[in-house]
Amino acid sequence: MDNAASSLTPEPVIQKMLEFYHQYRANVERGVHRLSQKASEEYERAHHKVAEFINAKSETGIIMTRNTTEGINLVANGSDWKKGDKIVTTLIEHHSNFIVWLRLKQKYGVDVEIVRPNKEGIFDITDFEKLIDNKTKLVAITHVSNVLGVITPVSEIAKIAHEHGAQLLVDAAQSVPHFKVDVQRIGCDYLAFSGHKMLGPTGVGVLYIKEELIDATEPLCIGGGTIDDVSVNSYKLTKSPTRFEAGTPPIAEAIGLAAAVDYLKEIGLENIEAHERALTKKIYNGLSDVPGVETYGPKDPENRSGIISFNVKDLNPHDVALTLDISADIMVRSGHHCALPLMKELLTLPNGSVRASLYLYNTEEEAEKLISTVAEIAKSLA
Ligand code: PMP
Repeated sequence: MDNAASSLTPEPVIQKMLEFYHQYRANVERGVHRLSQKASEEYERAHHKVAEFINAKSETGIIMTRNTTEGINLVANGSDWKKGDKIVTTLIEHHSNFIVWLRLKQKYGVDVEIVRPNKEGIFDITDFEKLIDNKTKLVAITHVSNVLGVITPVSEIAKIAHEHGAQLLVDAAQSVPHFKVDVQRIGCDYLAFSGHKMLGPTGVGVLYIKEELIDATEPLCIGGGTIDDVSVNSYKLTKSPTRFEAGTPPIAEAIGLAAAVDYLKEIGLENIEAHERALTKKIYNGLSDVPGVETYGPKDPENRSGIISFNVKDLNPHDVALTLDISADIMVRSGHHCALPLMKELLTLPNGSVRASLYLYNTEEEAEKLISTVAEIAKSLA
């Protein structure tokens, strides 16, 4: 139950990566020989599958990164910033979608404005209307909070941003693995997510960039593979996505990610979403009924994804997590979950929380076991 940190890897994903290592282990886009051709074909197909998965217009805007964090850093470093530019973000962000903006504030004097939700993590859309103005260059928001599980109104925010000529970046680390995400329907300009949270391997993630913005975005790294031509005094970058993927990319990992996409599609994201919603409801209601247990995030299951944060009386969350592991084989995360501003200012929990986060393979029995073990822990302190 620690899927918000990283998921498990199904056998077909492992097999697909082994196929690369066993049968066509070569670099991509660099050789005319047949192993390189086959590896390149599979690597390109991975971009295509990911584009389809999030309904991007084409694979041109699908950049293989290391993870969500690298994708967000690419956007932060990919355009020119000057004093007076404004970035609007929120209090519920993961550090990966927060300190990158604070760095721009420190470096260039960019204004970083922070929208605050209510205690459950639910935003009042008029707060975005008030803060987003014609100086705003970027709005950066998570699609799902990795602490509260709350789903944010990204399409509405996209409209407000675009009315003011601002761009929208969506941190989709906790949404793409769990429900259907359609970049065209959201209307976002950038969307970042990680392979390792969606049944894929570690070491690969995706940054989607809207086609119209690709030429204006500077790659994070340049070098081998990113050029059309080089002379002693100049170079010309090649087209996207290759221009953004400097050096030898994570080939086996991208191929594994495509297999994970196939796996998720075969089961159906709508089925995964319904399964997680039912389990989340069960766990949220079950834990909320345990005397001494405090649960966080939205009460309405429609507003949340499969993440349930809680605390047991005054116990340190790490002690609760260790007890769950040792006494019941339940793996959950504990602490501040890389979201210190949220912990300090919204929940006022200096030690953070315990977090159970679900995925398609979690079962009702596991949900019941979590609730009963937490109840036992709480009872032992009564
Ligand atoms: N954003 C959110 C909302 C996350 O939950 C995470 C991972 N915990 C990240 C960003 C960073 O993901 P990664 O470590 O794969 O870059």
